[in-house]
Amino acid sequence: MRKIDFQTHIGMLILSSLFAVWQLPSGFGQEKFLPGEIHKPFAREPHLNGEMANPIDVLHYDVDLDIDMEEKSIWGKASLDIFWPDQAGDYFFLDLVGLKADSMFINLASIPITADDGRLLVDAQHWPVTNDTNKVTVFYHGHPGNDGSGGFFFGDNIAFTQGEGLNSSPPSMLRYWIPSNDVPDDKATLDLKVTVPRQLTAVANGTLIEKSEKEGRVTYHYRERHPIATYLIAVSVSDFSFFSDYYVSLTNDTIPLSYYVLPNDLSKAKEDWKDVPKMMDFFERTFGAYPFDSYGMVEVPIRGAMEHQTMTSISSRLVTGDHTYDYIVVHELAHQWWGNLVTLADWRDIWLNEGFASYCEALYIEHTQGVSALQGYMEAFKERYLSEVNQRGDFPIYDPVYLWGATVYQKGAWILHTLRWTVGDTLFRRILRDYGQTFSYSSADTRDFIRVCEQVSGSDVQPFFDQWVFGAGMIELSASWEVTQVHEDQYLARLLLQQTQRVETRQLGGNAGS
Ligand SMILES: [Zn+2]
Repeated sequence: MRKIDFQTHIGMLILSSLFAVWQLPSGFGQEKFLPGEIHKPFAREPHLNGEMANPIDVLHYDVDLDIDMEEKSIWGKASLDIFWPDQAGDYFFLDLVGLKADSMFINLASIPITADDGRLLVDAQHWPVTNDTNKVTVFYHGHPGNDGSGGFFFGDNIAFTQGEGLNSSPPSMLRYWIPSNDVPDDKATLDLKVTVPRQLTAVANGTLIEKSEKEGRVTYHYRERHPIATYLIAVSVSDFSFFSDYYVSLTNDTIPLSYYVLPNDLSKAKEDWKDVPKMMDFFERTFGAYPFDSYGMVEVPIRGAMEHQTMTSISSRLVTGDHTYDYIVVHELAHQWWGNLVTLADWRDIWLNEGFASYCEALYIEHTQGVSALQGYMEAFKERYLSEVNQRGDFPIYDPVYLWGATVYQKGAWILHTLRWTVGDTLFRRILRDYGQTFSYSSADTRDFIRVCEQVSGSDVQPFFDQWVFGAGMIELSASWEVTQVHEDQYLARLLLQQTQRVETRQLGGNAGS
C-alpha cells in the first residue's frame, strides 16, 4: 500500500456544496421554501451605512434641466409624483447635494424650504391629506458636483454624469443633480428634458420623444417608460457623432441601437460595437427578452463603463477599434437584465449586479469560444479574487467591505458558476429566468434570489449561501488517496477529499458565527 497526503487550497468552489453541509452548525440552513410558495417580500433592512429609510415611494420624475456649458452650472425643475401613505414618519426628505433649492411646491402650493445636510425635508403639515399621492416640485440651481468617480462632470465641450460613486457610501449619485429619493429600490418612470446649446447633443435614458429649438438652444425630451432606479439615470452632452444599428428579437420586435461617440472615434466604435446584436441574441435566448425599448452606448471620459438604463456610458479608453474590451460591452449589456430589469434592493446586495454581469462575460465566452475558454476565464477570475484577498483581506460578498473589487465581481461570478454546477445547466437557466421574471422592473435582495433557487431546484441551498455569500473565503480541501493492489495486475485507488476549514456562517442581520 502506498499513501500520499497533501493539503492545499483548491481553487474550485464547485466542490463546496458537497462538503458545506458537513460542518454547518445546527440551526443554519433551516429556512426552506417549498416550490410554488407565494412570494412574500421581507421587510427591507435599513439602508447601507444606516441611511434612514424614507417613508415614500416616488412614482414618476418629470425633470427639466438647463445646462450652462460656459458657467458649468445647471438650472433645474424637478416634479416628483410621490406616494406617502398615511404620512408615516411625520416627514420625508429628498436628497440634493451641493445645489441650491430656490422654491418648493406641493401641487400648486408653495412650501418653505428646509434643507438639512444634503436633504430637503418635507413636513407632514404641508401634505394635502386628501391624497396619498401628490406632486412635489423643486426649482434649483448651482454648480453640480461629484465624488471624483460619480456625480456630474463638466469637461471641455462635454458634460456627463455617472450614477455610481465609487468613492461614496452609499454610491447613489443622482442627488448631485436631481432632487430624488436616491436609493436603489425606489424605482420610478422618468421624463427628462435637457436643454443645451444648439451645436451639442444631449443623450439620456429611454426614448427621444421630442427635440425642440428656442433661441439657439435645443431641448431634448427623453422618456423612460419602464421603472428606473435613480443610480441608473444619466445624461451626457457633447458634439457626438451618431450611428445606429438594430436588433431583431426572437419575437420579431426591432430594438433600435443608438451610439454616440466622440467624432475621432467613430470608425473604432463602429468596429468595436458591431457584435452587440449577437450579444443581445445570446442573452435573450438565455435570460428572456431584452427588457427595454432601446439600447445604446455613449462615449464619455468616465472611469470604465456604467450600465445606465438603455444607454451605457463607456470610457474613451475602452473604444479601441480592435475588440479589446468586448468583455466590457458584454458586461454592461448584461446589466440591462441584472441590475436594471432586476435591481439590487440595497447596496449590500451589490453582487447581484456585479457578480451576475461578470458571470455573463464568462457565459458569452463559453457561447462564442467553448468550454475550455470558459474554464480559462473562470481560472483568471479566481486569480483576481486571490490577488484582492492579498491586498484587502478576505470578506463576505454580501455587505462587502469593498464594493467594486474582485470579491464582489469575480468571486460573485464563481458563486453562480458553482450554483450552476450544483443544480445543472437546465435548472440553473430556469433559476435565472424565474428570478428575472419574478422581480422584473423591480428590486431583489440576496434572500429573494436564494428563495428562487430553492423554489426552482427543490433543494436547500441556504447552507451554500451561508458559507460562500454571507461568509468569507473559498474552499480549503485536504486530499488523500491510497492505492491497493487487489490482483496481480489490478489496483484500486481511493480518493478522499475533505473540507478542512472552520465554516464561517452568518445570517442576515445576525453576527458572524463559526
Ligand atoms: Zn458592472
